[in-house]
Amino acid sequence: MTYGFETLAIHAGQEPERRTGAVVPPIFQTSTYAQDAVGAPRLGYEYSRSGNPTRDALQECLAALEGGRRGLTFASGLAAEDTLLRTVCRPGDHVVIPDDAYGGSYRLFAKVLERWGLAYTPARISDPAAVRAAMTDRTRVIWVETPTNPLLGIADVAALAGVAHERDALLVVDNTFASPYLQQPLALGADVVVHSTTKYIGGHSDVVGGALVTTDRSLGDELAFHQNAMGAVNGPFDAWLTLRGVKTLGVRMDRHCDNAERVAEYLSRHPKVSQVLYPGLPDHPGHETAAKQMRRFGGMISFRAAGGEAAAVEVCDRARVFVLAESLGGIESLIEHPGRMTHASAAGSPLEVPADLVRLSVGIETVDDLLADLEQALG
Ligand SMILES: *Cc1c(COP(=O)(O)O)cnc(C)c1O
Repeated sequence: MTYGFETLAIHAGQEPERRTGAVVPPIFQTSTYAQDAVGAPRLGYEYSRSGNPTRDALQECLAALEGGRRGLTFASGLAAEDTLLRTVCRPGDHVVIPDDAYGGSYRLFAKVLERWGLAYTPARISDPAAVRAAMTDRTRVIWVETPTNPLLGIADVAALAGVAHERDALLVVDNTFASPYLQQPLALGADVVVHSTTKYIGGHSDVVGGALVTTDRSLGDELAFHQNAMGAVNGPFDAWLTLRGVKTLGVRMDRHCDNAERVAEYLSRHPKVSQVLYPGLPDHPGHETAAKQMRRFGGMISFRAAGGEAAAVEVCDRARVFVLAESLGGIESLIEHPGRMTHASAAGSPLEVPADLVRLSVGIETVDDLLADLEQALG
């Protein structure tokens, strides 16, 4: 029997607890487990860095939601990325990265992994030929975000899987913006999906975490080895909060999309907005690809203020219902200025973002309140 997405979100990895029948997986807040004899742990659990039942429930659920075989969760999205890259790459290898990406991912490549010996080339990932041209003999990974943060660029996952596999490289997709409800990269040919579960998967802005999912059994085993050997695991309470969030992912995403569609349409008619970046708009350059690989277009919108940087900063400062804050994907709407906030670490790099850019994470509040708030903030 195969189950639908919402059923898996609520039940995968979450059978009632064996001893008591507790319907919700307990928070196994323990570092260690009693053994019945030397070397005979009861259910295979020995130590919570290596294994914890609450974390296991989340890992199984995320694997099911992405259509993968193995899910692994971490202390943050960046911890997941670091573990993945230092599992599949060796010093001397090369990765192709997006020329528009989450600033923290860029910083990991540019300031940490380059020093470790991993070379990288930014490329326009909406253009498979440009990605192919950026590859070298040592390219081990093509790293893709789609939609990208913060410019909402779209990469064709199936086409890039072909480009990667022609040269024995892996295609890694950061699926944070779409969530598995809107897009399932593994089914399109990606080798590994990365998440900052801090965002839509957790969904309530109350926990930081990350995840990796793969369909490849041996890669899954290697990643699990490194999860334990490198130790960047999430704790049981964080796993539990994330699991609590993920149960409603489908219904939340539908409302995020409903509200974002209304906001994008409103902004695209506003005289003080020079450009709206939302893959759901028919004039977005990635619209057709997004329509092909995504169920809907998501809750993230960026726009450029006609009055330049000062105007962009002013809109952020004046918003009231939209909270001025970094991060995204929670039920509450957030507004931010990427150039000075989330993407400040990309200043002066090929990934620098336009100064007049404003990014919205459209929440699930009453949409008329969101529209009225933007109306007053834009003045
Ligand atoms: C936030 C984010 C990350 C990093 O995740 P953390 O949980 O903050 O470490 C990676 N990729 C994208 C697209 C993000 O938005």
